[in-house]
Amino acid sequence: MPWVSDAQRRWGNSPAGRRALGASGVKEWNRATKGRKLPERVKHKKVSVSLPDGHKPKSIKVKVKFKKKSTAPWKFLRRVNNKQRSFGVTDLDKKTITINKRMSKRHKKGGTPELLDTIVHEETHARHPRMNEQTVRRRTKRAIKRMPKRAKKAAYNRFR
Ligand SMILES: [Zn+2]
Repeated sequence: MPWVSDAQRRWGNSPAGRRALGASGVKEWNRATKGRKLPERVKHKKVSVSLPDGHKPKSIKVKVKFKKKSTAPWKFLRRVNNKQRSFGVTDLDKKTITINKRMSKRHKKGGTPELLDTIVHEETHARHPRMNEQTVRRRTKRAIKRMPKRAKKAAYNRFR
């Protein structure tokens, strides 16, 4: 997957970028973009998202960070939008996972930090597009119970 702008390429090759994307991801993106001319920045783009859990679809303005290419769940574009009206949104067509961190952090239930619950929940939707809501919730609970500390940290790091 290539970088979409020079600004993104610079960020990706910084310590923060490598931490967020992983060294191998950065290497892959550098390789995919080698020799290409990129715009300095990518403009804000209007996208429409479909909200799960009974919310109405709506349009939001987001900064496009990563170009989608693959349909694989780990290639989903992940982002944070603290103005979003739900904890998390997984858009299977646009291949994006958007988390409201602020809203998720405020709610804690059953001793599980809600932010981790939101992240794992939405990533489960991405991994299993046809799984129903109830199953996703059950799987999320189970997955978090089994998650080693390192995996939890990595999950938080995917949404910074
Ligand atoms: Zn859901």
